[in-house]
Amino acid sequence: MSKSDEFRILGRRPGNDESIRFEYKGVTFDQDSFHVVAGLNAVDTREYVERTFIALQQAGQRCARMGAYKPRTSPYSFQGYGRQCLPYVFELAGKHDIRVISMEVTHDEHLDEIRQALHATGDPTGVMLQIGTRNTQNFELLKTVGSQRDFPILLKRGFGITLHESLLAAEYVASGGNRDIVFCLRGMKTNFGDPHRNLVDFGHVPTVKRLTRMPVCVDPSHSVGVRDASPDGLPDIFHVAAQGVVAGANMVLTDMHPEPRRALVDAAQAITLEELPWFLEDMAIAREAYLVRREVAARHAAQ
Ligand code: PEP
Ligand code: MN
Repeated sequence: MSKSDEFRILGRRPGNDESIRFEYKGVTFDQDSFHVVAGLNAVDTREYVERTFIALQQAGQRCARMGAYKPRTSPYSFQGYGRQCLPYVFELAGKHDIRVISMEVTHDEHLDEIRQALHATGDPTGVMLQIGTRNTQNFELLKTVGSQRDFPILLKRGFGITLHESLLAAEYVASGGNRDIVFCLRGMKTNFGDPHRNLVDFGHVPTVKRLTRMPVCVDPSHSVGVRDASPDGLPDIFHVAAQGVVAGANMVLTDMHPEPRRALVDAAQAITLEELPWFLEDMAIAREAYLVRREVAARHAAQ
């Protein structure tokens, strides 16, 4: 297979250079759009879910993250409330005008459970199916999400495989028929990233946008993993998120919790609801810087 054949659908090349673009529940995703997707790593209480949605609504946000199915490293760790929590998550999302919820799925049954719960609650919101880093090469799951058209897909980069292999995973999804895919960088597993949880790989934002037509997301929470701040007062999570956005990221997926210490999963990496307006302001500055950088690049190219 020649190199240009490998990314037959998603690859960017002459004659196939239009950004993947899709509108879902009134929200547009492409290589020019920009969205922050903050929320609970793992759904816990109804009260925390509602407080999270209220904070997002007050900040003018239309997207959220909500984990119901949690793939955990240990079998003894909390595995997520699964389908049990879906009705109140969807109902409360609709109540607070949240249109798109990024939710990880690990099994084809989860799609049916999500479909049923959305239907039962009157389709108050939408779901973007998140494929986690541990499932980037779960080819049967990739085929399952790729062969349905109801939901768009957020595909995480595999944390221990090459970028090329992760992009082929995206191509697996697309080859099933669904091209509504956002590709998400989330850091690579290696001790060389210490004291961060993973080695930040956001230098690949422009690389993915050049090699493929997919919008690119960054997940600063799983990359950094801790709430530590540098002497300038900015948490490392803010810094690396801004680095991704300044490089052209189209989405930022961020863990947020009303009381991070009480979060059932990844408590160390959630920002608070009070920090949300600050985080959004910081991201807007980074986004503006990216747009100006693009203008400068165009001016120099025209000379
Ligand atoms: C998550 O976003 O909830 C998650 C588990 O991320 P990752 O698959 O990147 O570890
Ligand atoms: Mn996690």
